[in-house]
Parts: sequence; structure tokens; C-alpha cells
Amino acid sequence: MTRVEERDVVILGSGPAGLTAALYAARANLKPLVLKGVDAGGQLMLTTEVENYPGFPDAVLGPELMEKMEKQAARFDSELLHQEATRVDLSTRPFGIWSGDEEWRAQTLIIATGAKAKMLGLESERRLLGHGVSTCATCDGFFFRGQELLVVGGGDSAVEEALFLTRFATKVTVVHRRDTLRASKIMQDRAFANDKIEFLWDSVVEEVLGDGQVAGGRIRNARTGETRDVAAGGLFVAIGHTPNTALFEGQVEMAGGYIVVQEPTTKTSVEGVFAAGDVVDLIYRQAITAAGMGCQAAIDAERVLEGQGH
Ligand code: NAP
Repeated sequence: MTRVEERDVVILGSGPAGLTAALYAARANLKPLVLKGVDAGGQLMLTTEVENYPGFPDAVLGPELMEKMEKQAARFDSELLHQEATRVDLSTRPFGIWSGDEEWRAQTLIIATGAKAKMLGLESERRLLGHGVSTCATCDGFFFRGQELLVVGGGDSAVEEALFLTRFATKVTVVHRRDTLRASKIMQDRAFANDKIEFLWDSVVEEVLGDGQVAGGRIRNARTGETRDVAAGGLFVAIGHTPNTALFEGQVEMAGGYIVVQEPTTKTSVEGVFAAGDVVDLIYRQAITAAGMGCQAAIDAERVLEGQGH
């Protein structure tokens, strides 16, 4: 029979939320186990320069920042495994966590499995990700001063990103696959009133153009079938996010796929289970906010354990 290890804290995910939770839990002497997941490091592994993470006045590369966070968590007594949780059982405590045949029992669980930006699925988009293709205007807008940009999508995210990007860009063209926006009326009004924003309706990006750096997009009109190349220095994909929560379905309260927490804490509907970062947050989605929530989750877990005499 395989030995089932019991832990005070198990953390799922190794983006800023998971690794900050690990750092705090380790420093509270809780010897956390982190299952880093297959896409270890999370969404920052797909970015280049990060200029908005405090403490790095000269910017830091996304992967380098994650490496530093992991090193910092590992400096204290934590165990980080490059494995993915494949099943959890939150119905009884200690909770069950499996990775294939391996099993752990956890008094507290911190879910920091993040979210994935939805992508168009083009090979050129994947190749140019971080080289002009971005999924975060707040993160990358600054790099596109004085340029013309494309934003794909028609929801609140796309319109918000387009509005934000007008601070830097000379022109922002929103490419939307239908002829009406999904975004809220107030956001639509703001976008329509902004001289720098143009819309290409009933249009899809067929190809991201550029060799090593984005040069534009090949846009097809879905009604007429006509294609044309639009020059742009950057292309922002804003077609929504998918939180990584399939594993927890039916076991913890969710809304729209995101885990619900009892704000201002990180407590979920299951006592002893906490959630932090993009798996919870559909508004801010920043490395720094995820890290902050990871810290909160570790402190919440510590207090629950303390209250139970651990
Ligand atoms: P969303 O509301 O799901 O909108 C996604 C948009 O992308 C839709 O317009 C959709 O087109 C389009 N789209 C989806 N897949 C596509 C594809 N493969 N190719 C081309 N276009 C595609 O997602 P979101 O804008 O990220 O918003 C998510 C939630 O967060 C919403 O509830 C939103 O209100 C909220 N949010 C709020 C704010 C705010 O209040 N400031 C800001 C951001 C987000 P269709 O319209 O044709 O489906």
C-alpha cells in the first residue's frame, strides 16, 4: 500500500498567488506542499518585460520573476513538486489530493490554479505572443507608445483594453466578430465617443502578421469574405479568460467558473479551503494582486489551523 502523507497546507498552483502563499505558509512553519502544475509559473511565463511589479525599477522578465518567487519560497521549508493535481476530494477533512497514483491529505488547501486567457488559436498568434501579441493591456500598453494597435473582442475586457490603450497608441482598432458589442452600455458609449478608437465589425483575425515582431493583422470580413491587411505594432487578444477550476466543480461554490470567496477573506464555501489569484479574480488579474491574495490565503489558513490547535 502506498503511504498517504498528511500536510497542514497544500497549495495548488505556482503563479504569483501560489508561490506567495507558499512563502508565507513556509515562514509560518507550516511546511507547505506546492503542486506546481504542468504550466508551472502561470501566465507570467508567457510575458516578456514586467514593468509594474514593485521592487523592479528596471523591469524584470516574466519567467525570471517567477523563478525568483520560487527560489524565495524554496528558501524556507516548503516542498515544490512539478506535478499537477488530477483529483481532489473536499467532502471530508483532511481533504484528499491526488496526482495520478500519489495521494496527500491536507488540513487546509489553497487553490491558486489561475486562469488562462482565451486565444484565437492561430499559429502566428502563438509565435508572436510576447512580441507584440498580448493578453494584458495594463501590463503591456506602455510598450506601444505612438503606435497603431489592434484589439480583438467585443466584451467589457476588449473595450476596457481599447480605452486604456488610447493613452499610448495613436489609433486603436477593435476587431469584433459581430456587429454589436457585448460590453456594457456605459463602456460602449465611452468607446464610441473616443476619437482614437475605430471598429471593424463582423471581422475576424485570420493571421497575425510579422516576423519576430507584430506588424499587423490579416482581417477577414465574415459577411463578404473579403480580407485585408491592417498595419499595427501590437495585437491585444481580449476574448475572455477561462479559470482553471474544472477539478473543483461541484465541490466548492463558483460563479461563472470562478471560485467564490467570502471577501475580504480568501475563504471559500468549504471550511479549510481558500482560493487566491486569477482563479477568483475576474477584475484585476495582476501579478501583484494575485501575490497579495496568496499572502492573505496563507494567513487565513494559518489562523484556521491555529484555531484548531495545529
Ligand atoms: P466576454 O464578456 O465573454 O466577451 C468575450 C468577447 O470576445 C465577446 O465579444 C466574444 O464575441 C468575443 N470572442 C469570444 N471568443 C472569440 C473568438 N474565438 N474569436 C473572436 N472573438 C471571440 O469576456 P470579457 O470581456 O473578458 O468579460 C468577462 C466578464 O468580466 C464579463 O462579465 C464582463 O462584464 C466582466 N468584465 C467587467 C469589466 C468592467 O466592468 N470594467 C471589465 C472586464 C471584464 P461574441 O460577443 O460574439 O460572443
